[in-house]
Amino acid sequence: MNLWQNYVRPKTLSEAMDAFAHAPRPLAPIAGGTDLLLDLEQGRHLPVQTLIDVTSVAEMTALELRGDEFFVGASVPVNRIVLDPLAVAHAQALTEACNLIAGPQVRNVATLGGNVAHALPAADGTIALLALDAQAEIATSAPAAVLGGVNTRRIPFKDLFLGPGKSSLKHGEELLVGFYLPITRHHQSSCFKRIMRPQGVALPIINLAVWLEYVDDVFNQIRIAVGPGAPTPWRASEAEKALIGKSLNEGSFNAALEALLAQVGFRSSARRASSDYRRHIVSGLFKDTLDAAWGRAV
Ligand SMILES: Cc1cc2nc3c(=O)[nH]c(=O)nc-3n(C[C@H](O)[C@H](O)[C@H](O)COP(=O)(O)OP(=O)(O)OC[C@H]3O[C@@H](n4cnc5c(N)ncnc54)[C@H](O)[C@@H]3O)c2cc1C
Repeated sequence: MNLWQNYVRPKTLSEAMDAFAHAPRPLAPIAGGTDLLLDLEQGRHLPVQTLIDVTSVAEMTALELRGDEFFVGASVPVNRIVLDPLAVAHAQALTEACNLIAGPQVRNVATLGGNVAHALPAADGTIALLALDAQAEIATSAPAAVLGGVNTRRIPFKDLFLGPGKSSLKHGEELLVGFYLPITRHHQSSCFKRIMRPQGVALPIINLAVWLEYVDDVFNQIRIAVGPGAPTPWRASEAEKALIGKSLNEGSFNAALEALLAQVGFRSSARRASSDYRRHIVSGLFKDTLDAAWGRAV
């Protein structure tokens, strides 16, 4: 049996939203298809009549500086992010996360938008974007700012997520256009690392991203994202508070780790790891990631 009946390939956001309005329903956007096609085949996604392929939509494939922000289009394949000099300069944690997703074949087609829209709390691109303080741009049918005749709105990245596998996007009505990140300035840096099963190519046991600003030998600002620390992508806000105004040393790290462990909600998963194991190994991952980001910022 065919998994879909109609396949539409819009070239502009306006054409994509037109397809959303008029193509036979049920419909779904498809990017690399690395999650969606498996979900359709294995019955984890409701059947669709129409797939709207968003990989040729010009507004969604941009990767560029816009004023003092760095824009990454939702349809940019993660391998392009890994190799992009602007991404390395302004979103190093994101390039590191994208470079660890799956293997080279998947990375060539898997997009950042697909990684985020799937709404898993430990998706690698998602955890990096959370630490980088991204804002999501969404094309919507509701009244908002106008981009080339299409209504769009911007929301804080964390507002995209309602629960494991559940995004706040209105299904069949809204599309992720891309992500805006603040550009990286002097003495700011980021880093992403993860712990995987040997030979593992799917989601990690734990991943962790840090963004920080260093001023006069202390953490002036810091954001720490840990997956899967909660049902939605999660920031270790208490550990962040414990580090602000402190230098990086054994005492400040131990206080931050204690705060992280008191707040985090690791769960046990049959395929990956128990909660206890995650609590045990997060300490080394946190230390390595924090040390690397600090070393890059000083
Ligand atoms: C072998 C293998 C290994 C993997 N390893 C990893 C890994 O290590 N780390 C990791 O994080 N992930 C991993 N994944 C998961 C997957 O590859 C990524 O999440 C990928 O980034 C998904 O992007 P895609 O373009 O293929 O999305 P698709 O499969 O095309 O779409 C995924 C979902 O997002 C929706 N969607 C797509 N684009 C948009 C948009 N612009 N707006 C709104 N909704 C949209 C689709 O309708 C669908 O529901 C792996 C998958 C496979 C098959």
